[in-house]
Amino acid sequence: MQVRLSPGVKLRPEKFGGTCYVPHRDDIFAADHEVFTLLCDIGSTWTEIATSLESAYRSLAALGLCETDPRTDEVSYSGPSLLGRFQEFPSIEEPLVVNCFSTAHCPLKCRYCHADDLMKEDFRKNEVDGPSADLANVAATAGMFSSLVAVVTGGDPLTRPGRAQFLIKELAAKRKAIVLDTSGVGDIEALLPLLRENRVHVRVSLDALSGANDEVRPINPRYVTKGTSSEWAKRTIVRCLENVIPVTVQTVVTTKNDQKDELFQLRDWLIGVGVKHWVLHVAVEAGKAREFEKRARNQSRQRHLLSDEKTVQGLLRRLHAEEVQKKRLDIRITDTNSRPNSVILIDSYGNLQTEGFAHIGKVQLFDAKSARPDLIRDNWAHIDRFGHAVRYLNWNRWLYPDDSIEDQCYAVPIPVRASEESKVIEKEAKYRVIDIAGLRAALVKGGWIASAEVLQTDEYFDTNNRYIEAHDLAIRVRSEDGQIKFAFKGPRTYEETSSSRVEIELSISSQDYRSELNDRGLSLTWVLEKRRTTYRHPNYKLVAVADEVPEIGWFVELEGSGEEAKAVLAIVGEYIGGSERSHYADLYRAFKEAEGLPLSQINGARFSHS
Ligand code: SF4
Repeated sequence: MQVRLSPGVKLRPEKFGGTCYVPHRDDIFAADHEVFTLLCDIGSTWTEIATSLESAYRSLAALGLCETDPRTDEVSYSGPSLLGRFQEFPSIEEPLVVNCFSTAHCPLKCRYCHADDLMKEDFRKNEVDGPSADLANVAATAGMFSSLVAVVTGGDPLTRPGRAQFLIKELAAKRKAIVLDTSGVGDIEALLPLLRENRVHVRVSLDALSGANDEVRPINPRYVTKGTSSEWAKRTIVRCLENVIPVTVQTVVTTKNDQKDELFQLRDWLIGVGVKHWVLHVAVEAGKAREFEKRARNQSRQRHLLSDEKTVQGLLRRLHAEEVQKKRLDIRITDTNSRPNSVILIDSYGNLQTEGFAHIGKVQLFDAKSARPDLIRDNWAHIDRFGHAVRYLNWNRWLYPDDSIEDQCYAVPIPVRASEESKVIEKEAKYRVIDIAGLRAALVKGGWIASAEVLQTDEYFDTNNRYIEAHDLAIRVRSEDGQIKFAFKGPRTYEETSSSRVEIELSISSQDYRSELNDRGLSLTWVLEKRRTTYRHPNYKLVAVADEVPEIGWFVELEGSGEEAKAVLAIVGEYIGGSERSHYADLYRAFKEAEGLPLSQINGARFSHS
């Protein structure tokens, strides 16, 4: 099978692996190290992949991250955007998304608007509809972060299309993926070719199909005299889809639309016209909504705009669960009331702003005139980066009240790669050999290639009080054909028939190792000789060794994965006895004790000729 990254996909390494942006879905994913490596292993041209990786790449293609030949169909996905295995929600080093104001003008007067303080006269007075130094500063500030995505917003970019065009080109030159964020009110026609050319994803706001939308999102007659905001939004959505421009619809949930009929009717309309991505923002107490709520609290019959938490969460849980099951729409739900400072805004002068956490209204973090990338990075510390990741990676605790995050990650079936198996963990299973001639013949018949037999002399060192042995550690110096290897072994852990431990081995040239170890309080406590034949197979990583140990006979050790050990046991099973967990030293001591020799006189196992 052949694989390539989907057009425009952006990848950014992170401490936990990496983040990935899929422009046609406007989805950001966090991938663990294994999954991110899989994505980095392919590029934008077709690459032939190993058969063992086909399922893994197919699962990524289903989310639009890559394409496969033969083709894999994409599916909708509304779960947390975490690929692979995460035990906790990941934190990020740099912003994922920066929101860039292309204009401070807007044709609407939304009741919940929280960009209102960035659209005041001060911001509007010098605006011209076209290229400007201020807009160049907006792009410059955005460029100081390595965010995956820049959202061209406002105000409404459609109100000043010349500015929107200029900013899109500037941000594209900085290699940002671009989203156009609009109410849909205005003429999008002139922008369509540029949107297509730059793979811009368009987000259009629509809260309801009923009059509830227009009640909460009224038109400002200073800008538009015809139509309602919902009529404009629907028209813009359809025009984008007709022009094969990917569209997300975003809906702000308030008391005006937090009823089942309103949201379910809107959902059905979206599916009907071919929208595939829907973002629902629970309205937060900021900007105009804060003023609205303050007034409501002073009314005798309170008319709130912000929904009752229990009502809205119940409704959105139901909507979300249905789409998780039916997979018709990608649904992302944001709820930033407790994390207002998790969004990065760049105002139309290029200054960095965020919604205050303890401060009411926006906090300016950086003045574009400073033009110091180091200063802007310092200000990232004032943004709630965890909240930022939670917002864009689609996690809401209340959507999964009974589940731990690891149960909600998107599983990517990656087989364990032999080349990635640890080189410092020794995993082995040991068996007593009943018929060494039969075992040797079976291995050779199975394609295993035997090395020449070698004599190994292993010397073990310990402290006077046998601290090393008591803690299941080992310090061993092995001599073989004039080569000396020093090994440190950690304590063993056991599976059914095998054990594994950390083993660090290095070649040494010094013959003075005994005195060097003596100086550290380690003296020789045990010597073991054995005759070893090593068997290797071209198709296996596993190594099989046949050891002859003085007086107690033959053993076979299988060093490698359990799966490969099973394959070897299938061909040698009739020539071996049960598995053996004891060290050769313990087996030898037990043998000699049974012969009546006192333990104090047993200090090693040597062949009689040596
Ligand atoms: S469209 Fe956006 S910027 Fe304009 S008033 Fe509504 S919320 Fe505010």
